[in-house]
Amino acid sequence: MGLDEDSLEYHRIDPPGKIEISTTKPTNTQRDLSLAYSPGVAAPCNEIAKTPEEAYTYTSKGNMVGVVSNGTAVLGLGDIGAQASKPVMEGKGVLFKRFADIDVFDIELDQHDPEDIITSVSAMEPTFGGINLEDIKAPECFEIESRLREEMDIPVFHDDQHGTAIISGAALLNAAEITGKSLDELQIVFSGAGASAIATARFYVTLGVDANNITMCDSSGIITEERAESGDVNEFKREFASPVPGGDLADAMAGADVFAGLSVGGIVSEEMVRSMADDPVIFAMANPDPEISYEDAKQARDDTVIMATGRSDYPNQVNNVLGFPFIFRGALDVRATEINEAMKVAAAEALADLAKQDVPDAVVKAYGDQPLQFGPEYIIPKPLDPRVLFEVAPAVAKAAIDSDCARTELDLERYAERLEA
Ligand code: NAP
Ligand code: MG
Repeated sequence: MGLDEDSLEYHRIDPPGKIEISTTKPTNTQRDLSLAYSPGVAAPCNEIAKTPEEAYTYTSKGNMVGVVSNGTAVLGLGDIGAQASKPVMEGKGVLFKRFADIDVFDIELDQHDPEDIITSVSAMEPTFGGINLEDIKAPECFEIESRLREEMDIPVFHDDQHGTAIISGAALLNAAEITGKSLDELQIVFSGAGASAIATARFYVTLGVDANNITMCDSSGIITEERAESGDVNEFKREFASPVPGGDLADAMAGADVFAGLSVGGIVSEEMVRSMADDPVIFAMANPDPEISYEDAKQARDDTVIMATGRSDYPNQVNNVLGFPFIFRGALDVRATEINEAMKVAAAEALADLAKQDVPDAVVKAYGDQPLQFGPEYIIPKPLDPRVLFEVAPAVAKAAIDSDCARTELDLERYAERLEA
C-alpha cells in the first residue's frame, strides 16, 4: 500500500484519530470522585480564585499547550479550512507528547479575520500554559502573533515562523564556523518572503547577520526599495527591501555566501549555485521538494557546499520537531510569560553546540549507521537524538530566568538531571 492509503488506515483504525484524554489521579472509589469533582474540587477552585498562579499547582495548565490554527496555510496544502486541518493539529499534539511529554488541546478556529482570532485565543488564556499558533497564513500571522504576545501573559509562538528560524539559525551558526566566515560579513539571499522567510531573516539578524547584507526575493524577484516605495509589497517584505536596481533570484545569488530557500521547489539551477561565493551554504528548505536537490547542489561545484533541506532522506534536515517540543518544555517549566528573543537564541545555540558533541551509538544506529560527525554533512542534531531535550529545554529555561520572564525558580542542574531520568 502507498503512503496515502496507509495514512488513511492509520487514522481510521478505531478509535478514529490519534489522541485521547487520560486521567492522572485515582478514580476508583466514591471518595476519589468527590475529590476529583464536586464537592472536593471546590477547594482548589478557591485557592486559584484567591491566587490565580495556583492554577499551575492544582491544574494541568502548566503542561498544557493550545495548538491553534484556522487552516489557512496547512503544510503544502494551502487554505483547506479549519476542519480539514485537524489531522495536522492532532499530529502536532502527538509530537509535543512524544518528544517532550507536553499535553495539547488542538483548537481549529473557523475564523479568518485577525481580530476574531485574537479575541478567541486571548480568551483561552486560563486553559493553557502556552499557545502554539500553527499554519495561519502570511501576512495575517504576523499581526495575530504580535498582538497575542502583547495581550497574553503566557508564551505565544507561531511555529511556522520561529521553528524554521531557530533550527536553520543553528545550522547557520555552524555553517559559518565550518567555512570560517563571520556572521556579520555573510551575504545572504532569501528566496521567499512569507511567514517563514521573514521570521528567519529577522532571526538571522538577531544572531549577528547584518540586515544590509540580506537580499530577499519573492515570486516577482528581488524586493527592492523601488518596489517597496511603489506600494507593491507588504510592510513585512518592506523591512528587507534592498537599495538595488532590481533583478531576479539568479542576479541576487551571484556572489552570495548563503542561500536560504523558503519558497517553492526546483527554482535554483546548478548554474546559480556556481555563481555563489567560495564554500557556499545552501539551505533549500521548501517542502516536499527543495529549491535545488541535494545531488544537484553538491555536484555543481568542487569546493565545499554545505547543504541543508527539509527532507529526512538527506543530511542536515531542518525539521521543526528539533525545536518546538523542547522550547515549550523549557518555557513551561519556569512558567514563562513569553518566548522571547533570548530564549530563541539560547535554543539555536544549544542545538548548534550539541551538533559538535560525539553522537551516541544508539542515535547513529537509528539513522542507518551512517557516520554522524560535526562537519558539512552534520551541522544540526538529528530529530530522534534524545539529548536534544536535555540540552535545549534547560538552555531555554535559563534564558527565561536570565531575561526576567520566568514566574518560578528552577534549580537548573537538577532540572537537567530530572529530564534525563
Ligand atoms: P508562504 O508564507 O506561503 O511564503 C511563500 C513565499 O514563497 C512567498 O513569499 C512567495 O512569494 C514565495 N515564492 C513563491 N514562488 C516563488 C518563486 N518562484 N520564487 C521566489 N519566491 C517564490 O509559505 P511559508 O510558510 O513561508 O513556507 C514557504 C516554504 O518553506 C514552503 O515550501 C514550506 O514547506 C517551507 N518550509 C520549510 C520548513 C522546514 O523546516 N524545512 C519550515 C517552514 C517552511 P509571494 O510573496 O510573491 O507570493
Ligand atoms: Mg506548520
